Amino acid sequence: MIRLRSFLGGQWCDGEGEGQTLVDPATEEAVATTSTKGLDFAGALTYAREVGGPALRAMSYAERGKLLKAMTDVLQAAREPLIDASVLNAGTTRSDAKFDVDGAIGTLAYYARLGEQLGDRHFALEGEGEQLTRSKRFWGHHLTTPRLGVAVHVNAFNFPAWGLAEKAAVAILAGVPVVTKPATSTALTAYRLVETLVDAEVLPDGVLQLVCGGAGDLLDHLGPQDCLAFTGSGDTGAWMRALQPVTARSVRVNVEADSLNAVVLGPDVEPGSDTWQVFVRDAVREITQKTGQKCTATRRIFVPADRIDAVIEALSEGLGQIALGHPGRDDVRMGPVASAQQHRDVKEGLEALIAAGARVVYRAEAAPVGVPEGRGYFVPPTLLRVDAPHDVALVHEREVFGPISTVMPYGDVTEAAALVARGEGGLVCSLYSDDRDALRTLILGVAPWSGRVLVGSEKVADQGISPGLVLPSCVHGGPGRAGGGEELGGARGLSFYQQRTAVQGDRALLDRVLS
Ligand code: NAP
Repeated sequence: MIRLRSFLGGQWCDGEGEGQTLVDPATEEAVATTSTKGLDFAGALTYAREVGGPALRAMSYAERGKLLKAMTDVLQAAREPLIDASVLNAGTTRSDAKFDVDGAIGTLAYYARLGEQLGDRHFALEGEGEQLTRSKRFWGHHLTTPRLGVAVHVNAFNFPAWGLAEKAAVAILAGVPVVTKPATSTALTAYRLVETLVDAEVLPDGVLQLVCGGAGDLLDHLGPQDCLAFTGSGDTGAWMRALQPVTARSVRVNVEADSLNAVVLGPDVEPGSDTWQVFVRDAVREITQKTGQKCTATRRIFVPADRIDAVIEALSEGLGQIALGHPGRDDVRMGPVASAQQHRDVKEGLEALIAAGARVVYRAEAAPVGVPEGRGYFVPPTLLRVDAPHDVALVHEREVFGPISTVMPYGDVTEAAALVARGEGGLVCSLYSDDRDALRTLILGVAPWSGRVLVGSEKVADQGISPGLVLPSCVHGGPGRAGGGEELGGARGLSFYQQRTAVQGDRALLDRVLS
């Protein structure tokens, strides 16, 4: 049994008592314990502000980019043990574990390159500025500088490596030190990741600290220059947003929460066409990858009413190819969900959808392979059908965080866009069509409700970019139910960690001071 510790104030610290137990979700055997009881979180935040922050702010963007490059190289060398940790503690197949670990490394590498491009500067000006009065001398600039606080990152259980790295990469490049807290149930991968970085001594003191276990009073000590970036359930996000220290001190908050991601198959797409094939390939992947535990996984599939039977047949055939079982086996394509709690939540969510009017039209019957009978938190891939999507509100409201999706008919594309909107805000909506008019109606109809729109069509059918893939160059987040947040998006992501200040005065003087 492994004992996990937190890395705070420049040292590894163990909490009091046995704490919480982390398990292998395929066998339900305990793999680690961790406790944060009694740890000094106020001291950790102060350490970040007083030690990590000044070290980062003394560096230019290019120098911070070099730190990210060093992190990338160290993690690349430790890729295999990180994948092993994910298979053991998160129930992910090796392929799903790579999605998390390689996503972490790739995002760090992207922001390392961005740092190089931003160059030898310590602050940024937005554009050329503009004249403010009749005098050509009186000028206004918008200046961005790193905030002087700490970035507290609270992450969900489903991406222990990528969730940590995608947030940390942006904060560090912006010049703000990080205290990161992975979800406890799958914290082993995040723990190994931070341990690897600490052992390699690639970061200055105080730049990256780890809370491994419960958050305790961590959030009570947030101050006016701090940032809180949260990924997890909408309920926890809403609770954090309303915390007294957060509201009273105007702590910056970003929330990435629930999302009933939708897919629309265009009315022009013939069964068997290239666009049809890519729709089926993506839908099967998005239902089953990481056992449906991706914030970007497909939950609702809207198809032309006269194609619904053909779609269900094609998806059922695809889902039938997915072998369920121990994630360490090469012949297994889908592992268990990550914890007993997730298992309960998914079963309850499925029962609720059925009670609300959804019908099961496909459910894999085969028992999971490679695990003792009756053990492990397994959920078979399941396809539901709802014929009257306007009447079943729950299918647009309840995110069942597992390998479950619902197929529903629509009449025309205006109706399809309105049905997507019933989810009240999502991370990604994918549209499959080659019809320009249909796509225009759909894109403009769903965009206000979506953080990202992916258009699958014949000419890009071979690109292999499916809706669940979050690229660091594009924004991630979504309105409404999805939390109203925004992360990544290249240089856009830095603004969350920086203060924008309007600076007004003599143009020539400002040009010299701010050059
Ligand atoms: P969760 O229960 O809300 O937990 C998320 C994180 O919040 C964990 O680190 C958890 O720590 C922490 N937390 C919970 N209560 C807290 C408290 N009182 N004080 C401080 N921290 C607290 O969510 P989850 O079950 O891990 O994640 C599943 C949900 O996340 C899904 O609904 C999914 O849609 C959403 N998600 C969204 C995105 C996105 O990018 N939008 C990505 C992934 C997941 P402990 O583990 O220690 O309790």
